[in-house]
Amino acid sequence: MSLLVLKFGGTSVADLDRIRNAARHVKREADAGHAVAVVVSAMAGATNQLVALVEEAWGYKAAKQNGGSELSAQYDCREYDAVVASGEQVTSGLLALVLQSMGVKARSWQGWQIPLHTDDAHRAARITGLAVDELKTRMLDGEVAVIAGFQGIAPGNRISTLGRGGSDTSAVALAAALSADRCDVYTDVDGVYTTDPRLVPKAHRLDRISYEEMLEMASQGAKVLQTRSVELAMQRSVRVLVRSSFDPPDLGGRTAEADGTGLGTLVCHEDEIVEQNVVSGIAYARDEAKVTLLKVADKPGVAAQVFGSLATANINVDMIVQNVSEAGYTDLTFTVQSADLDRALEVLRKAKDKIGYADLRGSTDIAKVSAIGVGMRSHAGVAAQMFSALAEKGINIEAISTSEIKISVLIDAAYAELAVRTLHSLFGLDSR
Ligand code: ASP
Ligand code: MG
Repeated sequence: MSLLVLKFGGTSVADLDRIRNAARHVKREADAGHAVAVVVSAMAGATNQLVALVEEAWGYKAAKQNGGSELSAQYDCREYDAVVASGEQVTSGLLALVLQSMGVKARSWQGWQIPLHTDDAHRAARITGLAVDELKTRMLDGEVAVIAGFQGIAPGNRISTLGRGGSDTSAVALAAALSADRCDVYTDVDGVYTTDPRLVPKAHRLDRISYEEMLEMASQGAKVLQTRSVELAMQRSVRVLVRSSFDPPDLGGRTAEADGTGLGTLVCHEDEIVEQNVVSGIAYARDEAKVTLLKVADKPGVAAQVFGSLATANINVDMIVQNVSEAGYTDLTFTVQSADLDRALEVLRKAKDKIGYADLRGSTDIAKVSAIGVGMRSHAGVAAQMFSALAEKGINIEAISTSEIKISVLIDAAYAELAVRTLHSLFGLDSR
């Protein structure tokens, strides 16, 4: 008997039919004698609707439509959390009911009932503690625990949420706390691909991918798993299987290896992967925005001032480029999530006097394309190959960032697909 955590994303619980389908997958595992916990997202689109309601309630959307920026985007994040956490409350209750209707013992759990404790960084809180004793006892007793993902409880007993896509993190945290044998993430694709197959039909599914590569894939825009969930999985050695909820619940007679490979992509430690390409995948992201500060004083403390203000507002910065321009000044360009662009601009406008700059610009017409692979550690010249292939296609590079196992370029959004296709064949990833 194994202890399994299953996670179903928004498209896998989008309506009652899909919830029934998810329930059949759960029933299959429970019938096989496994102790099962299920983590659910809200129905597809539900969280977006709730976020829109929050902005409307605060009057932010109307102000934006009228071109006005006087009204702050910084609404009370505690109330944001109170509203947006409700989507998962609905699906957890519904799945528990559907399971019961199929004769499977099941009970729903909200974040506060477990409890799953978080810090008070509302809207993107971090998990600080997770008590699973009672949950585990009941699971071992044959009761399926259906858990509302994405939510927890912050100091002061306020409901908190873990950031968009956070139910993945709920699932991995739970798997770690329960010492689960595996965390199966059911989604609308059957695994992790070398790149987005909708963009490149020659993309193929990877049987296994290392945590580090997945971390880069996730943060570089391959939306399969929330970045934090992968970090946590790596730290706690949680084996995560990304698989499809659209597989027939009886798996159509397909069988898998003991670790689940064959049914999806297993995210695991690097040393468990035998065959390794130099580049494992090409990721792209269109949800980043570029912010440029023109004519910033070239003196100590300025960057600290800029990025300090953004950090205080909980805005994550990704790529940063600084160009020394006219004497005594520099231009500073960096990227943030598009969803944070308005808040970032507002924060910087407010800090204008303290920072000191001539002009502030924001643009969302950009894309980030990345080549990722642990093999880069031992192979030189990957960057050179990549840049010349892009140059041959006439694609201009606006910014570059690298890590040991990744090279990312920022380019004009119009060239995103061409760049991804070019790199996918360049690094030998096209399936034959
Ligand atoms: N429902 C939340 C979201 O849309 C959390 C999740 O789906 O993981 O971001
Ligand atoms: Mg997700």
